[in-house]
Amino acid sequence: MRNTRGTHVLVLNTGSSSVKYRLLDMADGSRPAGGLVERIGERTSYLRHDPAGGPRREREEPVADHATALEALAEELERDGLGLDSPELVAIGHRVVHGGRRFTEPTVIDEAVTAEIERLVPVAPLHNPANLAGIRTALSLAPDVPQVAVFDTAFHTTMPEHAARYAIDTAVADEHRVRRYGFHGTSHAYVSRGAAELLGREPSETNVIVLHLGNGASASAVAGGRCVDTSMGLTPLEGLVMGTRSGDIDPAVVFHLSRVAGMSVDEIDELLNRRSGLLGLCGDNDMREVLRRMDSDGPDAESARLAFDVYVHRLRKYVGAYCAVLGRVDAVAFTAGIGENAAPVRQAVMAGLRGLGMAVDPELNGAPGDGPRLISPPGSRVAVAVVPTDEELEIATQTYELVSGGTMGRK
Ligand code: AMP
Repeated sequence: MRNTRGTHVLVLNTGSSSVKYRLLDMADGSRPAGGLVERIGERTSYLRHDPAGGPRREREEPVADHATALEALAEELERDGLGLDSPELVAIGHRVVHGGRRFTEPTVIDEAVTAEIERLVPVAPLHNPANLAGIRTALSLAPDVPQVAVFDTAFHTTMPEHAARYAIDTAVADEHRVRRYGFHGTSHAYVSRGAAELLGREPSETNVIVLHLGNGASASAVAGGRCVDTSMGLTPLEGLVMGTRSGDIDPAVVFHLSRVAGMSVDEIDELLNRRSGLLGLCGDNDMREVLRRMDSDGPDAESARLAFDVYVHRLRKYVGAYCAVLGRVDAVAFTAGIGENAAPVRQAVMAGLRGLGMAVDPELNGAPGDGPRLISPPGSRVAVAVVPTDEELEIATQTYELVSGGTMGRK
């Protein structure tokens, strides 16, 4: 392997039609460059590159596939003297959505690892193929740079069997690897640790409920730094109400729609994943729009209010459930687009939970801020906090620790 004296880590997040990238300098926490390629495979793909301290470069041009997208971003980095052959680049960290049961830690990528990620495609048909395309191209563009896979599922592999199992026939479940895996693990790991740090406590001695509320949303119960339950399951469809996903639903709804409405499995899949959640309930999947409509006197305020209420009710049920799972809760941490920015959602979720030792101070909750901060009244039994997530930093940190053998001073 090449030298390990450099301090730059390139993080690649390859989705089905996009690649997001960020170059981080682990020595000083700076971010020399980042950007994205969107609408891969369409005629009007979009490229954006943001070098630190320089003007943004963006263009629209056809980008046929992930390989072409990665070549384009490598060229952009090269123009800033940050190419994939730069001696500063110590590793590339890839976000990989599904690591099954096998990958419990960040893992240096070799042929066996790539083959195992491929073997998991049936349980993550939308995500793992795109992640693999990114990995294969990066390996061919930078064969000498160590590459690390950081799995969305890894943090949840500590869930006890009784939380990970569905109550279905064990033989069927085992043959088809049907169990609860959980997702957003990189964020849950980062935020649960951040919440403990905010309280000045060791993560290993802190119990946290993490509410990751973005376009996708999930909750997790973290006991002493280890995940003991999470709301997403075999796929990222289970659990909370999301922008376009239903979250928990009686599985018999699927049979009903098939038998009574004559819908195909693919149509029901599309309904539950893309046309449900906030969008299905009120026609908008963006919480900003839902909040704006609720405050208006317009005719569409009512459906927005209902969508908000369903969203909040589901969240409160998970908070209550995870109180029971954890026994003792030290902190509830809100994160991601909605969790970090939507004060009315945080207020509504926590309303009436004083019996559980939880409350939100309206002034602290409404105050602007972009760092980790407490929003519960001083002296509360359970701290309620906003802890901004940073999945890129967490992937870079885990990657860097693995290739440099350090712990970056983490507890
Ligand atoms: P994420 O997936 O973490 O980027 O979160 C995206 C979601 O965050 C968007 O769909 C919005 O619904 C939500 N969001 C972002 N900013 C705000 C805000 N200021 N108020 C309410 N919701 C917001």
